[in-house]
Amino acid sequence: MVATRFWHFAIVMMALADVDVARAQALLGYTAANSANEARIEARFKAIPSATAAQQQLRVFTAEPHLAGSKRNNDLAHYIADQWRKQGLTDVVLRRYDVYTSEPGEISLEMVEPVTYRASLREAVYSQDPDTANPAIRSAWIGMSGSGDITAPVIYAHSGNPEDFALLRRNGIDVRGKIVLVRYSEPYSYRGFKAFTAEQEGAAAILIYSDPAEDGYARGKVFPDGPWGPETHFQRGAIEYDYPQIGDPTTPGWPSLPGAFHIPSAQAAAVPKIMALPLSWQDGKPLLENMDGPQAPPEWQGALPIRYHLGGERVKVHLKIKMTESLKPNYVVEGSIRGTEQPDEWVLMGNHRDALEFGAADPGSGTAAMMEMTRGLGALAKQGIRPRRTIRFLSWDGEETSFAGSGEWAEQFAPELAQKAVAYVNSDVGVSGRAFEGNSTGSFAALLVDVSKSLRDPSGRTLYESWRLTRATNPAVARTTAGVADFDLTDTHIGSGSDYAALLDRAGVPVIDVSFTGPYGVYHSAYDNFYWMSHFGDPGFRYHAALAQLLGVLVLRIANADVLPYDFGGYGAHIRGYLEELGKATDLSKLQLDGLRDAIDDFESSGGRMNAAVQAALTGSQLDPLLVDQINRAMMSVERRWLIPEGIPGRPGYKHMLYACRKTYAHLELPGLTEAAESGDVATAQQQADILARALHANAHMLNQWQQELACSAGLRGPSGSLCVSPTLSR
Ligand SMILES: [Zn+2]
Repeated sequence: MVATRFWHFAIVMMALADVDVARAQALLGYTAANSANEARIEARFKAIPSATAAQQQLRVFTAEPHLAGSKRNNDLAHYIADQWRKQGLTDVVLRRYDVYTSEPGEISLEMVEPVTYRASLREAVYSQDPDTANPAIRSAWIGMSGSGDITAPVIYAHSGNPEDFALLRRNGIDVRGKIVLVRYSEPYSYRGFKAFTAEQEGAAAILIYSDPAEDGYARGKVFPDGPWGPETHFQRGAIEYDYPQIGDPTTPGWPSLPGAFHIPSAQAAAVPKIMALPLSWQDGKPLLENMDGPQAPPEWQGALPIRYHLGGERVKVHLKIKMTESLKPNYVVEGSIRGTEQPDEWVLMGNHRDALEFGAADPGSGTAAMMEMTRGLGALAKQGIRPRRTIRFLSWDGEETSFAGSGEWAEQFAPELAQKAVAYVNSDVGVSGRAFEGNSTGSFAALLVDVSKSLRDPSGRTLYESWRLTRATNPAVARTTAGVADFDLTDTHIGSGSDYAALLDRAGVPVIDVSFTGPYGVYHSAYDNFYWMSHFGDPGFRYHAALAQLLGVLVLRIANADVLPYDFGGYGAHIRGYLEELGKATDLSKLQLDGLRDAIDDFESSGGRMNAAVQAALTGSQLDPLLVDQINRAMMSVERRWLIPEGIPGRPGYKHMLYACRKTYAHLELPGLTEAAESGDVATAQQQADILARALHANAHMLNQWQQELACSAGLRGPSGSLCVSPTLSR
């Protein structure tokens, strides 16, 4: 296994460098003395976040629906800014972006043949949960749906994936001009991909319903008696075609600052043309049970007590959707705790604020935890305990519609981020259960494991132990007799689906994304509310407090480190894993990949040597502060070297060579190489492999130089065990 290889290598290097291995329990990136100091700071911080205060915060954020662009959501931006100022944060500002916004006007759906049925398009009210009666809750709609008024037959297209339409074709069913009815599927595929596929197939409209097989009674007890979705819940969301570009679809490549030029939405490739509407299973069932045509194959059969058919001409519906388009202000709130020693090195942490209704789990749980984290860090700052580097907090907006806040912000500040960003820690659906999940770019995988050992979750176990249990149930994770190896704990297949995508794929900022997950059948419905969270998601709110602790310790650990806790040796091993996974899934025989494999080896081994040299320097007698500062700046540049300025082929907004997502939002590694290889474009695949090889060598070369410099400065022996050679770098 590659992980074993790397650690073996690292240990050999440490032995060569005469490192005191017994001191390896020091925190990653810290000297022994500063490890002890950091542990004291973290202990003081961890004592502050409370379950009760997190609960009170969540109540504020879930009191009313707060869609991006709404008055309530903008009021919450000011609320956060006020809280942050009181908590002791500085440089609190609201950044405004005028963002393309699509909202529902008049929407109706009526079956006209063979029987009449008018879809309610509303979620039921439950007396035990007064929030469900809030008149501000919107009926069914999908962001960026096309407008129209049509009457057409309905075809059942399973999940709405290309292979589903192929099966319909084999059955002689043509969906052109018709309305397709599809399910939200398991495994998840982005609703925008379903809409895009249906539009490509020539369908006039798409209805996406929540089958109880996916998130309803087939999974367990439903709301208000359990965490799964009841018969009237439906999944809102947007369907932007954001595959080439993240953010406002009418400002591709530039920020939506007030007064900025916007292309007409009709010309924006990312704005769908197809009409789209989500349905509850209560509204979907009358359509399904009246369909004729061939019986659906067994895997298309859902959990409703009817025989599913593919449909034909029998069921006709009248669908009317009138959307309104406008530019609306979205606000990103920024707040900071300025660093004492390196104010221009930024550790970023953020969570979106906008919700599709009340948004208790998505995103309120993450926001409530963030507010408890900032309260704790602000309290330390008031006592004079400030981090060495600047920590910047961000409340994003417009995430649910187009990643507008993070997308436009990353676009605006990309040049500054290239100079200053150390890390971005993301939270979103922070708490929907108890199972810990940690994702990051390969550079932070080891740090996340290290941090998980210094926290306890409400079960009483260390977060590390709980995480190992979660990962042990994941069939995709490698295990040994000792359980899941540390190398396999962090999932580095980071993909997309939250605000970190803009920071990583657009700006080349290494990211971490953390959450506690569980049974969560009310996603993007009106039942993702305070009642759901207090009864099912996190009764007692102790996981909210645990998340606040984790987020705070993560940003403190990075912000206070002597040497930034990146692990490029491990990163190299993860990159090799991506290439091996690609080789198993796709024929690469026409490509010359020896150069790329060499480059991965080069990067991994130079990263391993850097780890060993850093470890030796940290355990040695003294650190040269100027040199450490230069090395930190150099290591910050590694992630930026993975960026292709013009973007990966056909995707100008996705600039990262290692990470992107598919149209389905499934994670995608080595995206330029993978997509070209999958489509049989050998020339482009080779070109992407060569670009990546060059970037790997460039990073390896840079790390080698600094590692030698560090080894020399510490009076240690050079990488080959020979005496230190004169450094080639100028100070
Ligand atoms: Zn979210």
